[in-house]
Amino acid sequence: MTKLVYFFEEGRSDEKELLGGKGANLAEMTNLGLPVPPGFTITTESCMNYLKTPSFFDSDLKDEILKAIDKLENQTGKSFTKNENLLLVSVRSGAASSMPGMMDTILNLGLNDSRVQSLAKLTSTAFAYDCYRRLLQMFGDVVYDINKEKYNLLLQKMEIQLDKQVDYFEVDEHQQLIEAYKQLYAENNIVFPQNPIDQLTEATKAVFKSWNNQRAKVYRELHDIPHHLGTAVNIQSMVFGNSGNTSGTGVVFTRNPATGENKMFGEFLINAQGEDVVAGIRTPEPIEVLNDILPEAYTDFVKYANILEKHYKDMQDIEFTIENGKLFILQTRNGKRTAKATLKTALDLVEEKLISKKEALLRVTPDTIDQLIHPIFDATKVENAPLLAQGLPASPGAATGEIVFTAEKAKEYHNLGKKVILVRQETSPEDIEGMIVSEAIVTSRGGMTSHAAVVARGMGTCCITGCEAFSVNEEAKTIICGDQKLTEGDIISVDGSAGNVYLGSIPTVIADNDQNLQVLLTWADEFATLKVRANAETPQDLATAMEFGATGIGLARTEHMFFGEERVLEMRRLILAKNEGEMKLALERLLAFQQDDFYQMFQTVQDKPLVIRLLDPPMHEFLPHETTEMEQLAKKLDKPASAIKKQIEQLQETNPMLGHRGCRLGITEPQIYQMQVEAIFNSVIQLTQEGHNIVPEIMIPLIAEESELTFLKDMLIDKIEAVFQQHEMEPISYEIGTMIELPRTCLIADQLAKNADFFSFGTNDLTQMTYGFSRDDIGKFINTYKEKDIITQDPFQTLDQNGVGELIKIAVQKARETKENILIGICGEVGGDPKSIPFFQKIGIDYVSCSPYRIPAARLAVAQASIES
Ligand code: PEP
Ligand code: MG
Repeated sequence: MTKLVYFFEEGRSDEKELLGGKGANLAEMTNLGLPVPPGFTITTESCMNYLKTPSFFDSDLKDEILKAIDKLENQTGKSFTKNENLLLVSVRSGAASSMPGMMDTILNLGLNDSRVQSLAKLTSTAFAYDCYRRLLQMFGDVVYDINKEKYNLLLQKMEIQLDKQVDYFEVDEHQQLIEAYKQLYAENNIVFPQNPIDQLTEATKAVFKSWNNQRAKVYRELHDIPHHLGTAVNIQSMVFGNSGNTSGTGVVFTRNPATGENKMFGEFLINAQGEDVVAGIRTPEPIEVLNDILPEAYTDFVKYANILEKHYKDMQDIEFTIENGKLFILQTRNGKRTAKATLKTALDLVEEKLISKKEALLRVTPDTIDQLIHPIFDATKVENAPLLAQGLPASPGAATGEIVFTAEKAKEYHNLGKKVILVRQETSPEDIEGMIVSEAIVTSRGGMTSHAAVVARGMGTCCITGCEAFSVNEEAKTIICGDQKLTEGDIISVDGSAGNVYLGSIPTVIADNDQNLQVLLTWADEFATLKVRANAETPQDLATAMEFGATGIGLARTEHMFFGEERVLEMRRLILAKNEGEMKLALERLLAFQQDDFYQMFQTVQDKPLVIRLLDPPMHEFLPHETTEMEQLAKKLDKPASAIKKQIEQLQETNPMLGHRGCRLGITEPQIYQMQVEAIFNSVIQLTQEGHNIVPEIMIPLIAEESELTFLKDMLIDKIEAVFQQHEMEPISYEIGTMIELPRTCLIADQLAKNADFFSFGTNDLTQMTYGFSRDDIGKFINTYKEKDIITQDPFQTLDQNGVGELIKIAVQKARETKENILIGICGEVGGDPKSIPFFQKIGIDYVSCSPYRIPAARLAVAQASIES
């Protein structure tokens, strides 16, 4: 016959499916020789049998439980039914996967009207009746569905009546309260079972049934836990930490969970119950003090804590109780800890030879690293902060500041020493200077790859996009959010990691430069096969990228180099040029700007690869939209405002993202790409002459046709050769590659590979074009999609492996059929996403490229992907 009940000493730690996590853990501790209060586990299979066929309980299970109780009485030398030497038990649920708080627990089972008096003699009146009261309450709630709050109301009523707290009740007053509780049962036509065996059978059935309560079902749906597993039930003898001055209870971490320091950290209370430590009514003592009060128990505890840490090879969070001088370990689990402690513990455990470097790397999650390099809100303060709105978590970090609505105001306030948060409907290249000085950026529109998101991530500035609850009026300088109205200068706090905006200020905790992080990342590099490059173009971003350990630059977006008033003016002059002269003037000026930029960029990255992407966005992105701005531009260009307005109107496109952009611009306006390669090679030549070894990589965006690539490649080569001739120099080696950003491009990757030196997947556009979701407007509906479970992840944030990923896979295979060793990278935002990286590892990508502040987490993620591949 199948075994339905396992004593802790019979179970094994790897039998989680059968015994549940808690049962397996209790078995493991018992088998390690730890003093665990004895008990047994009823299997998950029994639960499922009972739920399918309720008669199973009486026909098969009940006898086994009765036998187990007999054995437990023998083991403990106590009695579950007699009125002396009381055995009381706890009944707890415990599924294979932890489902915290989802199912039910009943403590102090076995108490009744007469046994409570025996317990009072053993402990105290207050404690004994407190246990009994709690039993009635939990039992009523779990077994008979009588709302817990009703008992609390009865207690409060009596405390008011007697004008004292329950701890000070006399025996008859306690009994009066118990009667009131029983009355509540009576009102529901129920009698509380006085027989401990009846209590146990009813409680076990109720815990089984709690597997199917609504919150447990929802939790399982949410965490992908199968519904057919069932919960185990753990029945364990209770020990009492409050049975006098040689008893007590405590909670201890084997290392400091805030700093990771290898020193026990925790506290205890003499003559107390577990809850008293947490409740904070009495102030607990630091654990070391236990050595002065109960030295034997302390020595035992230190011994067992060491055993547990060595066994689980991790910091443990241990609950213990001492009953009349004897120590019991009630629970152990891996201790929750801060990011800083996570790192220090992982490194120390390697040094102590408890785990390997690989294990250490797998223990740290990439988002832990994010917490170490960005400021975060003080967790104790954020709980009570009024949440104003939510948007997309576009760039991590936390900041507080005064609201401003324009880049100019941001600069003005910044110069006055104020901290500002730039709030706009969406940002554009003109806003760059204001964005740089802002503590955070919030836009009411836009997705995870909108201008604000991409630029903020590049700068490491905290940012929320698609904050739809904000109705932003930039002219009136107001935000309407529900029934609140915010104006310039109002203070808000922005959590870019969670996507939350709060009203008022919240203090932040600044991440310090953690040496341990450097060590961990060096280990990561030892195991990684995928390389990590950066998306960066400004000198500041490039320098940050190099500091964070980028192996090169995978994407330098040249349009970002036309930000700033002076440069955007020349770009506008070029776009609106009516004759050769105007065009020449603009191109000359732009050439000079770009040449300086490229020179600095190459100088920063030195001999590391630097991929420069030729101009990509549709022209309208460089042009003003407001009438006043158009008029100002007309003045600067010395042209009639009406003509400028008309020209701008003519340049408008119905679908700019599908319009005149990317390589299409290069074909129709060749002078722009020609100017760009001239600037690139002028600076390369200069640096080569200065003795540097530079290998430029030129990348063409948005290729859809093989002939687009051949046309542009020929054109670029002609220009590059001309530049070398001009300098009377032999050409040095360079590469010309293409982005893959369109579904069609994926399908013709074999043809393109003939003419491309490298490929890089622009997953932002590829996702946009594959899904048909506008990357700038997804913020409008993605949260609703997530709430309704239509989509679980924003595909601009985490790769859609089934669709976009499949296209990438096909393209990689096709490309390698033509050119086996062609270098292939990912430079869209999902390149820096730890959840997407294992897929890129699997399909044979060579590098991922992401914004500088995402590099540390990506370095860890690529190492993990390689270790687990
Ligand atoms: C992309 O489309 O993924 C990409 C990197 O290019 P951009 O975001 O500049 O369009
Ligand atoms: Mg793109």
